[in-house]
Amino acid sequence: MASSNTVLMRLVASAYSIAQKAGMIVRRVIAEGDLGIVEKTCATDLQTKADRLVQMSICSSLARKFPKLTIIGEELVVWVDPLDGTKEYTEGLLDNVTVLIGIAYEGKAIAGIINQPYYNYENNEKQQLREHRNEAKAGPDAVLGRTIWGVLGLGAFGFQLKEVPAGKHIITTTRSHSNKLVTDCVTAMNPDDVLRVGGAGNKIIQLIEGKASAYVFASPGCKKWDTCAPEVILHAVGGKLTDIHGNVLQYHKD
Ligand code: AMP
Ligand code: MG
Ligand code: MG
Repeated sequence: MASSNTVLMRLVASAYSIAQKAGMIVRRVIAEGDLGIVEKTCATDLQTKADRLVQMSICSSLARKFPKLTIIGEELVVWVDPLDGTKEYTEGLLDNVTVLIGIAYEGKAIAGIINQPYYNYENNEKQQLREHRNEAKAGPDAVLGRTIWGVLGLGAFGFQLKEVPAGKHIITTTRSHSNKLVTDCVTAMNPDDVLRVGGAGNKIIQLIEGKASAYVFASPGCKKWDTCAPEVILHAVGGKLTDIHGNVLQYHKD
């Protein structure tokens, strides 16, 4: 047990820096201006150069640092979403985008890392403008991007835990993959307010930061790489993520 804990902590620490590097790649692709957009199954199911480069970067870094990972792959599975919120990324809604690295042991999600490459980007742009005009020096506002991480039983870090105001029921749901079932389900919950934003990682961040009380996504399309890392962060602070029947999700490799 001690040795598997050591492996887990080494893996979490590596995944943290790997996710930060991934965030830099996501920003570099935007800065270079050529997103290399490819349609996968339809116009709302897209892939960009950032998805491809980050996927390669994360997989090669993990393979280099943990050459034996596949040997214990039966029990320890890493679920990677190189870029969550691709549709919004292609539309310039940059703070919807995250990089997700989730770690599951014996089918249970136990550790997760979320990099949000464009966290603070509006403040950051204003700060750069002020610096340009020599009005202010770089301050904490100027820091672009952040990494949130969590381990079950240890906690979640890199953000400030908040709850929505008491008595308010705010639902967050998909912005670009909606259908009648999703809207019916949201309506049935009789919310005070509905937020429609991109990304599974982004929506879980809204829950832990008190912008929404529940995330409803009642349709296929969301994958286990979308939920593994975010689920751990949510569970580490006392939240709960289930399928539509209320069952916990399993993260075995198959
Ligand atoms: P969304 O809330 O629309 O950002 O969806 C959350 C995650 O599920 C994203 O990674 C989407 O790419 C994925 N997803 C949801 N619905 C679909 C769909 N109909 N086709 C492909 N991917 C989907
Ligand atoms: Mg995704
Ligand atoms: Mg993706």
